[in-house]
Amino acid sequence: MLTDNHGREINYMRLAVTDRCNLRCFYCMPEDGLNWLSRSGLMSYEEMLRACRLLVKMGIEKIRITGGEPFVRKDIMLLLAGLAKIDGLKELSMTTNGVLTAPHIPEMKALGIKSVNLSLDTLDANRFFTITRRDEFASVMHTLDELLKHDIEVKINAVVMDGKNTRDIIPMVELTKDLPVSVRFIEEMPFNGDGHVYQGLSWDYVRILNEITSHYPAIKKLTDPAYSTAYNYQIPGHRGTVGIIAAYSRTFCGTCNRIRITPEGTLKNCLYDDGVLNIKDLMRSGISDNELEQNLLNAFSHRVADGWEAERKRVEKNGVHESMATIGG
Ligand code: SAM
Repeated sequence: MLTDNHGREINYMRLAVTDRCNLRCFYCMPEDGLNWLSRSGLMSYEEMLRACRLLVKMGIEKIRITGGEPFVRKDIMLLLAGLAKIDGLKELSMTTNGVLTAPHIPEMKALGIKSVNLSLDTLDANRFFTITRRDEFASVMHTLDELLKHDIEVKINAVVMDGKNTRDIIPMVELTKDLPVSVRFIEEMPFNGDGHVYQGLSWDYVRILNEITSHYPAIKKLTDPAYSTAYNYQIPGHRGTVGIIAAYSRTFCGTCNRIRITPEGTLKNCLYDDGVLNIKDLMRSGISDNELEQNLLNAFSHRVADGWEAERKRVEKNGVHESMATIGG
């Protein structure tokens, strides 16, 4: 078992395969995009597979592919096919915005992908356009249909934004009535990529829960799975479930089991840290797997206690301002 200096098990990795995205969600990046990484600035698929094989040997059991938008990276299915073959990897999953996803679903299913996180902040096509600056609502809904048709577990992730989509909270909870999906409401975080100062949070997890309970007083708390970042609930009689993720309030760090690798190969021990090691540079310097493992173990033995400590350590470097697309969510 792989553990950190606080005795927390590390068994889950989120690997962001690109910083590029085909949406421009205003809370994630500026309208004209980011200063995208060059091809050589990205880890190659060979490098990703090497790192993943080693990390699985060390104790990682679950890998989630994220981005940017994973499906905008060329030949992404080749990477997924390579990952699916790694001995010891118990679960391979993805996070996607659903725009380009649908045609790949049969192959994803064949590779053993059982669960997909689909990002969707509203059920209204106009608000979708306002939030994402792209007219792609129909393709995302089509992806949702196809995932369900192929019996792939779907978690819908919705960022709750004051004045933008709070009127979508109840309609999105209503989705769980007939669909076997988990709709998860996420607190907005300061990763907007445009450097403006984050004004704090007006819709925290308590307010989101109050909004839901005032419409569904019979809502039941479920037992949260191990390492869950979401507080999980169900409305009696509904097929699906509802989750609330206190991503800004950071209530779940005590059981944090996850690490992240960015598209440029930076290892992050915490979503809010600044990166603790660059594995792409190490691999390109000709390091052996043994040496890479030692570097990784050293990084895991210096994990911060929680996301508040991680953020505090960054204050002198201007704090948190990068786009979530450079991290993977
Ligand atoms: N493109 C993929 C997708 O849309 O799921 C994967 C990458 S995206 C950066 C991962 C998740 O991060 C999405 O659910 C997105 O809504 C979320 N996200 C991006 N910026 C955020 C922010 N400032 N606060 C909270 N969540 C954010």
